[in-house]
Amino acid sequence: MYAEVIVDVAAYPIDRPFDYSVPESYQALIESGCRVKVPFGNRQVLGFVTAIKEETDVPIDKQKPIAELLDIEPVLTQEMLALTKWMKRHTLCYEIDALQVILPSALRAKYEKVLRIADEDFDFPPEIRALFHQKQSVELKVDESKELLLIIKKLVKEDKLILETSVKQKTAVKKVRMVRIESDKNKLTAIYESISKQAKKQKDVLEWMIDRAGTRVLSTELLKLLDTSNAILQEVIKKGAATIEMEEVYRDPYADRTINPSSKLALTNEQQSALNEVLHSYEAHEAKTFLLHGITGSGKTEVYLQAIERALMDQKEAIVLVPEISLTPQMTNRFKERFGSLVAVLHSGLSTGEKYDEWRKIKRGEVKVVVGARSAVFAPFQNIGLIILDEEHESTYKQDDTPRYHARDIGIWRSEYHQCPVILGSATPSLESFARAKKGNYTLLTLSKRPKEQALPEVTVIDMREQLKNGNRSMFSLELAEAIRLRLDKQEQIVLFLNRRGHSSFVLCRDCGTVVECPNCDISMTYHRHQERIKCHYCGEESQVPNTCPECNSEHIRFFGTGTQKVEEEIAKYFPTARVLRMDVDTTRKKGAHEQILKQFGDGKADILLGTQMIAKGLDFPNITLVGVLSADTTLHLADFRAAEKTFQLLTQVSGRAGRHDKEGKVIVQTYTPEHYAIQFAQNHDFVPFYNQEMMNRKQFAYPPFTYVVLIQFTHEDVLMTAEYAHKAANWLRGNLSSGADIIGPSASSISRLQNRYRYQCLIKYKKEPELPEILQQLTRMYRTDWMKKGILMSIDLNPSSIM
Ligand code: ADP
Ligand code: ZN
Ligand code: ZN
Repeated sequence: MYAEVIVDVAAYPIDRPFDYSVPESYQALIESGCRVKVPFGNRQVLGFVTAIKEETDVPIDKQKPIAELLDIEPVLTQEMLALTKWMKRHTLCYEIDALQVILPSALRAKYEKVLRIADEDFDFPPEIRALFHQKQSVELKVDESKELLLIIKKLVKEDKLILETSVKQKTAVKKVRMVRIESDKNKLTAIYESISKQAKKQKDVLEWMIDRAGTRVLSTELLKLLDTSNAILQEVIKKGAATIEMEEVYRDPYADRTINPSSKLALTNEQQSALNEVLHSYEAHEAKTFLLHGITGSGKTEVYLQAIERALMDQKEAIVLVPEISLTPQMTNRFKERFGSLVAVLHSGLSTGEKYDEWRKIKRGEVKVVVGARSAVFAPFQNIGLIILDEEHESTYKQDDTPRYHARDIGIWRSEYHQCPVILGSATPSLESFARAKKGNYTLLTLSKRPKEQALPEVTVIDMREQLKNGNRSMFSLELAEAIRLRLDKQEQIVLFLNRRGHSSFVLCRDCGTVVECPNCDISMTYHRHQERIKCHYCGEESQVPNTCPECNSEHIRFFGTGTQKVEEEIAKYFPTARVLRMDVDTTRKKGAHEQILKQFGDGKADILLGTQMIAKGLDFPNITLVGVLSADTTLHLADFRAAEKTFQLLTQVSGRAGRHDKEGKVIVQTYTPEHYAIQFAQNHDFVPFYNQEMMNRKQFAYPPFTYVVLIQFTHEDVLMTAEYAHKAANWLRGNLSSGADIIGPSASSISRLQNRYRYQCLIKYKKEPELPEILQQLTRMYRTDWMKKGILMSIDLNPSSIM
């Protein structure tokens, strides 16, 4: 018997299954989907069995056996094995990368250095004998003393010891110690009698045990209850009064939270007809994709909940994806409130162990609903009835590291496998999805009203150019400052949103709002501080930073970008009594920090919540009556063709934070370009007109969804090497792709240098290119076999979420 094994070595010639013989002892146990330890070269690595077969082409003298079977039950289902093959082709990743990404990190390969005795008869020095402590092999830790490491090194050289790298098999399962008390009361009494009077503490324990003969108690609990020590307990156990049993338990990240159960709401007509359509396709076992377009607060979640409830009636399972779960604890709770312990939560804030426990509950079918961020789309359910992506437009659904998969694509793939519907929900769908819905590839469902017909908040747009003209140089317009003061007086809460992303900066005229754009690409030029130049990273156009505005000749032209700390200082200056909470990457590094800040704000411990992108989502507090957007322009002038779309989405999302409950909400948006259509349409919460306008622009410049885009990025420490290989690739592509494909660049990326590596990129824009997967695979092969050795790193991103 032979097993095809994908080994944990990410390198080009190895990206295929290898045949290993299966030792007699494993033959009845092994299945595809199990993890194994196999010899590879001169070491042992982790591998995944992808098939079992009776024959192999490997000659008998070259055959190697599997060293160890790591799972009795496969960790990967047949579905997952098929999915990884699909991912390999469609994201151009190594199969092993795809296999690893779908498993919880507890099951991924970890390696350790293991020391074994080679020569049994050798008289080892005492420190070595102490190290082994009568064991045959021990893990070698790097923090051993230098002297000891030197002795080991010498003995390894002399073949007395063997040092090898081995796959680490941590038992990620958490176990607790249970004390099982002897059930025979007479025996306990006899033991009690036999203990001398001096050992009073032991006698106390036994007395307590006699009353509880035959029961089990948590060891830690017993010690606490009786105020006794483990040594005493051990003595009693030695005498036969009890035994210790290890019991498997789950770590429960929600243990300390109280959840109030909720029951289903009577749906509005719009909700009901959306639900009916979904249920119709659910009952017909159709793999249909729905786009649920509903304004903020229109009750999309209630539709999800009731659709899931239907699937649960058939013992089927549901996956619910949310963009960033630590930012949306309120959303998670709604699923727990409705479905209680049937819900598992998977997200990046959990420890490795906690994640593994949730994963096992899913695998064993002990839960039926999983709520989680991107990677939860791989939840190992085997009988899926429904898949939901909430806020489907969010770019966090695309993994920006290999394998570069989009959770939407995986969700749709799985829906076809399970023949079940998918719901993509959003108040601001991505252009791609809305276009697909219009074409009929997806089925559009619309919620145009809030359930109690609450009005959407009023949005006021402030022209910051006017403020400057009137002598106001602060970052708060008079209107915003006034509105803040009013809320502070009334003790209502304020959210201030600083629209800021990454390192990008652009050059803006504060008098007329002009932003310097590339003449060829309709994309903002990026400011490069070091060279004092502006560049189009898209086509390579570059020039000096102008001293005066090309439109109005003003000298108030400068690069733009403000940090949250600076805003905090300004708040302290203008509103000294205000209590401020700041939420940005700096204040949320620690695990659980998001939730804590949100909780403090929810408990009324601050007047102003100041933050970046991360506060745009999920906030739902009744006392927020003002949302201020300090600078709508930052995303608007991103060097990216999705700039307008992202601005519209953000403004709509943040506006949705105000006045969700009884108190009326107000939104103030500050901008230097109030006439921009993204801001105009966001002001009126008008998605469809925005969509129509934006589609016209995309069409004119042949951007998605009218074309597809592939972003290919190159990095190297040497700028000339980077440019050379970027050119090589671009030329090669020009020679191999059809004339219908447009290859743009290469040019410097908008972040032109990162961690000491220069960055170049080129883009492929195409409408139809049937050979593309093969051509990109060939390019990848050239890269992996040759260019990589020269220190070049190349990444290929199909349908990138951003081209920066
Ligand atoms: P969305 O997900 O579209 O932003 P939510 O599902 O959060 O909207 O709903 C907004 C609010 O409306 C929530 O407080 C929810 O409980 C309430 N709600 C939803 N559907 C109904 C309904 N049919 N009747 C009454 N209230 C509803
Ligand atoms: Zn100007
Ligand atoms: Zn350009």
